[in-house]
Amino acid sequence: VLRLSEVGKGFHGTTVLDDVSLDVPQGQFVALVGPSGAGKSTLLRLVNGMYVPDRGTVRTLGENPAACSRSRLRALRARVGFVFQQFGLVGRLSALENVLMGSLATLRLPRYGVMSYPRALRVRAVEHLDRVGLADQRFQRCDTLSGGQQQRVAVARTLLQSPELILADEPVASLDPAASVLVLEILKRISAEDGISVVCSLHQIEFALATADRVVALRGGRLVLDEPAAGLTADRLRAIYDAAGARDG
Ligand code: ATP
Ligand code: MG
Repeated sequence: VLRLSEVGKGFHGTTVLDDVSLDVPQGQFVALVGPSGAGKSTLLRLVNGMYVPDRGTVRTLGENPAACSRSRLRALRARVGFVFQQFGLVGRLSALENVLMGSLATLRLPRYGVMSYPRALRVRAVEHLDRVGLADQRFQRCDTLSGGQQQRVAVARTLLQSPELILADEPVASLDPAASVLVLEILKRISAEDGISVVCSLHQIEFALATADRVVALRGGRLVLDEPAAGLTADRLRAIYDAAGARDG
């Protein structure tokens, strides 16, 4: 589903990713951890073609995003769901309207609200809200939902595009622990049930160990660990952060 081969990326002479190789099969939940500035967000942006690698190659769902035409890249991105730390919802619209917006190529708002969308799409949108546990809140304005609920709306919106791969960049960084666990469990369940690969960057080691099938750690742009979560301990992962702290002073 996703393959990075000896990928290097820098900005203005600095090296941000160095010789990173990674192969993610279908249906796997990969946690991407590492200290701030390690290159996690950069890696995710290379995968969906927001950045072009300086060296090496990226293959996402069989395509090379760096070599795609604009229309091909748009088609590729429609197959890749993206979830951010800032949920990216329209606060004054309902949960259901926000989910339905996942079907729009542009973010232009439809004039007639929910009724602008075909019935079959509305039914699917409610089903996705149900999957994230928010069917009852579908008519509630998003700015009145809790942070965890808003992130679950964002996940439901991503599901409406039937993604084959979900990239999540610190999806729980602004949530409290209980809400974080819930969001990650939902992502994990979707990954397992639908066979969707998820690459999810996380700051909290404990969450990575509890949710992921596999943990990949970056430090200073290098891939320093890539192992099944089952055999890992928090201490081993923490050592990666400590080493970075020691090196960076
Ligand atoms: P965090 O945990 O803080 O989100 P991260 O692991 O996601 O960190 P990145 O955002 O990938 O780290 O950034 C790695 C380095 O790349 C940083 O030093 C950052 O300043 C640099 N960088 C990322 N994108 C750009 C860009 N568009 N232009 C210049 N520098 C960039
Ligand atoms: Mg980041």
